[in-house]
Amino acid sequence: MPTAIGNQHPRSPVRFDDRPILVFWETTKACSLSCRHCRATAVSAALPGELTTDQGLRFLDQLTAFGRPAPILVMTGGDCLARPDLLQLTTRARDLGIVVALSPSVTPHLTPESLAPFADQGVRSVSISLDGACSSTHDRVRGVRGHFEATVRALEWLTESGFKVQVNTTVMRANVGELADIAAILRRLAVPIWEVFFLVNVGRGTLLLAPDAEENEGVCQFLYEASRYSLLVRTVEAPFFRRVVAQRNARATADSSPDSVTHGPLYASLVQRLSELLGPPPHRALSPSVSTRDGMGVVFVGHDGSVRPSGFLPQTLGNVKQRDLADIYRNDRLLLKIRAAEFGGRCGRCSYRDLCGGSRSRAFAASGDPLGEDPGCAYSED
Ligand code: SF4
Repeated sequence: MPTAIGNQHPRSPVRFDDRPILVFWETTKACSLSCRHCRATAVSAALPGELTTDQGLRFLDQLTAFGRPAPILVMTGGDCLARPDLLQLTTRARDLGIVVALSPSVTPHLTPESLAPFADQGVRSVSISLDGACSSTHDRVRGVRGHFEATVRALEWLTESGFKVQVNTTVMRANVGELADIAAILRRLAVPIWEVFFLVNVGRGTLLLAPDAEENEGVCQFLYEASRYSLLVRTVEAPFFRRVVAQRNARATADSSPDSVTHGPLYASLVQRLSELLGPPPHRALSPSVSTRDGMGVVFVGHDGSVRPSGFLPQTLGNVKQRDLADIYRNDRLLLKIRAAEFGGRCGRCSYRDLCGGSRSRAFAASGDPLGEDPGCAYSED
């Protein structure tokens, strides 16, 4: 079990009490894919209750209440391109000075032509999911034959078109052994950002096997190494990656010799594969820049306007149809406790609770208590 390195782990410098930096808007549940791990349990057509165009425009107006700069708006789904009014919505966002990032599904709707109007508006960031390093794994997860090749083609034209591309990968038992190969694909395609989702048992994700805590630790230690290849690595529902980065950086500062701590067989095999594919790491690790967690720096708005700490935590805090998002974000009692790091179990006793704080979504999925400990983390100071 890793141990804390002295008392060098920094506190989170910002608690984001006043405003999040990211607002995720599930613009629709509609999507023509039916991915096995889908948080949204997306369906082929929009569901009743989805924010109408007028309600969506009013919601965008609400974001200005956070002041300037407004949070970055990540338009996700379902498939955001399945909303026929998407361009009208992004036009309003642009007029309000809100930076938009699109998170579309790879379907026949995603083409250079369909994204051109958004690029003309100044939308520069697009995130795409890649859940395997080969067609057999990725296609099985996505449920569509040929989807791996379509995804690689989309990544190629997106990067060539000048979009800032982020690849999202959900880690599960089915693909955990391919993470080094996925990292190599991203390097080959010049993708600069890799966002790695650690599975939480919600939506269709309950049908899949999530890695256990020890495997999560090995993955995080591997991701630290992967970030040494000019990849900005971020995690979703694994804020303990920041604890791993802090520990590794502290260890590197204290001792310039190569890291001698073993991190388990999964880590060893992934790092060996990464070295085979990309050679020795050329750079120092790129550290995650900000400390966010569910409800602290990020907040989620569902297709029907319901507000949640994250898309993986099905605890509704209010609805933007009735109440301003800024009011909910700033004053909701659960969010105040999350931002104050008032946690139970190991997370409550952990000296990294400000920097990390654990996945509130996984704590909820495991125990029904969003302030409980994150069972996906292997670390303990007990
Ligand atoms: S015990 Fe909780 S707060 Fe500490 S590193 Fe693990 S997940 Fe983070």
